[in-house]
Amino acid sequence: MHGDIESIVLTEEQIRARVVELGDDISRDYGEGSVLLIAVLRGAALFVADLARAISTKVEIDFMAVSSYGSATKSSGVVRIIKDLDESIEGRHVLVVEDILDTGLTLKYLLKNLSSRSPASLEVCTLLSKEGKQRVPITCKYVGFAIPDEFVVGYGLDFAERYRNLPYIGVLKPDIYSEHV
Ligand code: 5GP
Repeated sequence: MHGDIESIVLTEEQIRARVVELGDDISRDYGEGSVLLIAVLRGAALFVADLARAISTKVEIDFMAVSSYGSATKSSGVVRIIKDLDESIEGRHVLVVEDILDTGLTLKYLLKNLSSRSPASLEVCTLLSKEGKQRVPITCKYVGFAIPDEFVVGYGLDFAERYRNLPYIGVLKPDIYSEHV
């Protein structure tokens, strides 16, 4: 698996340190209250597990799964909810936890959907944000890292369902993509 990686974009240590900082920021902002983390499956599953443990505020976790139509590496903006939340978010402080903000189309859809359910507050924490790529303006209160516009894998992010278990974030060798098509 590691042999398929061309270069490392973020090391395990960099990710760990930044997750602790994000957890501190979130704990400071939500204080003695409580926050409901909504992780978007499957990519954000690993991130939310680490992030939740870095937050000292009372936390609950729920999951949503969405599928975006399009090719393996391109978002089309057409989103379908595959798994909805288990609980109501009405009157609650909600923090959506995303793996990566690319075009922003997935999050735009999700935020519109969630805001119609009357949460007390609705914010976003994304581990990664692709610089200059957002096609729709999204306000992300917490951003782990701004990264260049490259397709990355690892730490929850996949290519054809693989590489999610890499402890770092990296770019695949070009022949891995061509082998897949
Ligand atoms: P958006 O709707 O913002 O364009 O894309 C959001 C979703 O596309 C992410 O949650 C993720 O599932 C997928 N995605 C976007 N960029 C990448 C990338 O560089 N690597 C991987 N593995 N998935 C990505």
